[in-house]
Amino acid sequence: MMPQILVVEDNPVNMKLVCELLEFEGYRMVQATDAEEAIGILQQCTPDLILMDIALPGMDGLTLTRRLKADKRTAQVPVVALTAFAMKGDSQKAIAAGCDGYITKPINTRELPAEIAVFLGRAMACAKGKTDEDPGN
Ligand code: MN
Repeated sequence: MMPQILVVEDNPVNMKLVCELLEFEGYRMVQATDAEEAIGILQQCTPDLILMDIALPGMDGLTLTRRLKADKRTAQVPVVALTAFAMKGDSQKAIAAGCDGYITKPINTRELPAEIAVFLGRAMACAKGKTDEDPGN
């Protein structure tokens, strides 16, 4: 089965763009428009990757990422921040908050599928390494 990707994004245009592009690649997409909705979804399912907008209404994406990384249930799920290209400090802040990487907005529609494939591939390699080290888990 194709990987499942949760997109946390309050901008409907970006949400539609990202989901359409990645659905076309065959990924199973789940959408949340704010942190609370994302938390609710993460109680029901564990996606293979989270694409996280930083600027969200209410709890921002960095705070949500810190929460997810502090929670044993969600700590292993890779989080890739969606940061605004104009906001230079955002990518560093995203990494400091525990994000596994970042993609700058505006989304490059030609590069996004390859970027996602790299993040997923890296995550799967990490998970495999972990299993080898700790077969009891
Ligand atoms: Mn936003």
